[in-house]
Amino acid sequence: MEKRKRILITGAAGFLGSHLCDRFIKEDYHVIAMDNLITGQLKNIEHLFPLENFEFYNHDVSKFIHVAGGLDYILHFASPASPIDYLKIPIQTLKVGSLGIHNCLGLAKAKNARVLIASTSEVYGDPTVHPQTEEYWGNVNPIGPRGVYDEAKRFQEAITMAYHTFHGVETRIVRIFNTYGPKMRLNDGRVLPAFIGQALRGEDITIFGDGSQTRAFCYVDDLVEGIYRLLHSHYVYPVNIGNPDEISIKDFAEEIIKLTGTDQKVVFHDLPVDDPKQRQPDISKAKELLDWSPKVSRSEGLKITYEYFKSLSPEELTKKEHNNFDKYIIR
Ligand code: UDP
Repeated sequence: MEKRKRILITGAAGFLGSHLCDRFIKEDYHVIAMDNLITGQLKNIEHLFPLENFEFYNHDVSKFIHVAGGLDYILHFASPASPIDYLKIPIQTLKVGSLGIHNCLGLAKAKNARVLIASTSEVYGDPTVHPQTEEYWGNVNPIGPRGVYDEAKRFQEAITMAYHTFHGVETRIVRIFNTYGPKMRLNDGRVLPAFIGQALRGEDITIFGDGSQTRAFCYVDDLVEGIYRLLHSHYVYPVNIGNPDEISIKDFAEEIIKLTGTDQKVVFHDLPVDDPKQRQPDISKAKELLDWSPKVSRSEGLKITYEYFKSLSPEELTKKEHNNFDKYIIR
């Protein structure tokens, strides 16, 4: 019998990390999951705890990482990932994208493992090229509120390439565009859980700015498939994974209102600083290199996601925040 491949997943209790745990367990890997639970939720991976090929470590990957035994792969997915989160915990966001990836790359070098890092469409900032191709270098404000995330992710790409070229570590870089699905935190501040949460609680739907800004939303299963293919590919440069089906936030609010049947009104708030005006992935590379394109339409994906949020307990629905950020906020 072939020996099970061993994979370390950081940020394993988060939205994407937990879906990746499920996928690699399904593929019969031995999954070593790590999370410090600042933004991750243990309930996302609790069902895996009884499995003999699953281990969980409550650990901050910004500190030295020790893993006993061999490792074939590392997926670095630890990071706050919503604008509200990284406003609340900016220093941790910078640390996990710099010290955290440095530890992962050092571990990969020591274990001769292949690393795939979660980068983001935020490396393009408020883009002046549309749709965004991997060749575009971006338009990022390093000192704005989003800078802590954007620059950490850009540094992450730089150090990953350096470990590849200087140390010969096998590396992969995925640039993830807006993604949604079950296991998102209802109160993470992102637009989709925000709108659905508001509809479920009978609150007004809050559009920031005039709602003309655009996003393109990818269903999580499609994203996970793209990441799985990229990990097993031979391509070391960044690859966009996302769904190019672009929509304005105003039209998106209308879709959520229709889906949930809410009779709440839409209210307009100020647009957050440096909020990108338009975003859509050019996925030609993923199509060509990975034979990948998204399969789940927004209407199908939204239905599944709505069912998930509806299944949450009334306490979860009304809780303002699942995680205790207070002690992490640097004032
Ligand atoms: N947004 C909104 N209302 C909300 C939350 C977000 O209109 O209650 C907008 C936000 O300003 C942005 C878009 O929705 O233009 C997507 O925001 P999100 O926080 O989901 O992620 P981003 O793509 O900006 O990282």
